[in-house]
Amino acid sequence: MELKEVREGAARFFVPGAERIYDAPVFYNPVMAINRDISVLAVDVLKPSRALDALSATGVRGLRYLLETSVGEVWMNDINEEAFNLILRNVELNGGKIVNSSNERAVFDVSGKRAVVNRGDANRLMAEKFRYFDFIDLDPFGAPVEFLDTALRAVKRRGFLGVTATDTGVLCGAYRNACMRKYLAVPIRGELCHEAGLRILIGLVARYAAKYDLGVKVLLAYHREHYFRVFLGLESGARKADESLSNIGYLWQDRSGKFWYSREFLPSASNAYGPLWLGALRDEDFVASLLKKSQEAVLASNKTLEFLRLLSDELDVPFHYDTHAIAGRHGLEVRKLAVIMENLKKMGYRATRTHFSPTSIKTDAPFDTVLDALRGL
Ligand code: SAM
Repeated sequence: MELKEVREGAARFFVPGAERIYDAPVFYNPVMAINRDISVLAVDVLKPSRALDALSATGVRGLRYLLETSVGEVWMNDINEEAFNLILRNVELNGGKIVNSSNERAVFDVSGKRAVVNRGDANRLMAEKFRYFDFIDLDPFGAPVEFLDTALRAVKRRGFLGVTATDTGVLCGAYRNACMRKYLAVPIRGELCHEAGLRILIGLVARYAAKYDLGVKVLLAYHREHYFRVFLGLESGARKADESLSNIGYLWQDRSGKFWYSREFLPSASNAYGPLWLGALRDEDFVASLLKKSQEAVLASNKTLEFLRLLSDELDVPFHYDTHAIAGRHGLEVRKLAVIMENLKKMGYRATRTHFSPTSIKTDAPFDTVLDALRGL
């Protein structure tokens, strides 16, 4: 394998020198540096003792946790033998001194911290390490669903999960049956698809967690480019699980663009989308801490801070209005978002931009009022 050395955050590491990322024998996507920056900040805030990077590829994520946060022990796992060998090399490149090793596992000391590099199926490893980790990162190709059960068993009952899903076509309704099979939910197409996709993913984790009498608290959830990312804190107990299930419900949308939603166990009207999460997508204190940490941190992407600010300023209510789509449906002139938001504020409502779309707003105003604001009334 031809290798080149790159840097991201505090980590130096080798990546395959392939022309296209998906042709490389071991996967590394520099575009995901924002995802990793935010994850490093999250781990820094959450202060886990033991973290698992379950699908590690080059090891970049686990290495960054080790080098940029206070975590004491990081496991980096991959099923691919070439990835395993590359992670071993990358840990050594970052000062790792081998403590012991076998064909499938090596333990390193990295400046007084413990790094464990493991080759194997993530589900097998997580089944072996019952309630061992404080934080588990699932960053797979496509859907994370096949790893959720074991992750919910390998993480401590008050631990944390970071979950990525890159199967946007499935969660956004291009492959409805695949969404029903994998996420046990009906996806929506159109302007609400990304937010609904994110909420379907969270809803699924909440339902899986409930089996173990675990509740979930969403610390931060977002959609960006081709992926969804969610950070969850687990809460132990049947009552906590019931509380998080009370945030599961359904979404409806009619041809005018008007949407409505309802928290219920089964949909009470036809043509519902979901089940999906209708609770918060952010914990204000957590996001404030991420922003504070980001001032001192050496971030790999110059877009991370701006993106975190956008997330932090966004009104946290379910779903949003795409002003272009609504103007088109109602034969209205397209106005600037700033003007529409100002109109809504004058009428006594809250309104902000949203990271889900540059042409959309989040507001607590009813649909007819949003139409008035678009008309400039
Ligand atoms: N987390 C990495 C990062 O931030 O650069 C990228 C991970 S890549 C998207 C997914 C990795 O999961 C691949 O390296 C693949 O070999 C590995 N993988 C796929 N199925 C697996 C399994 N069942 N157990 C462990 N690793 C697996």
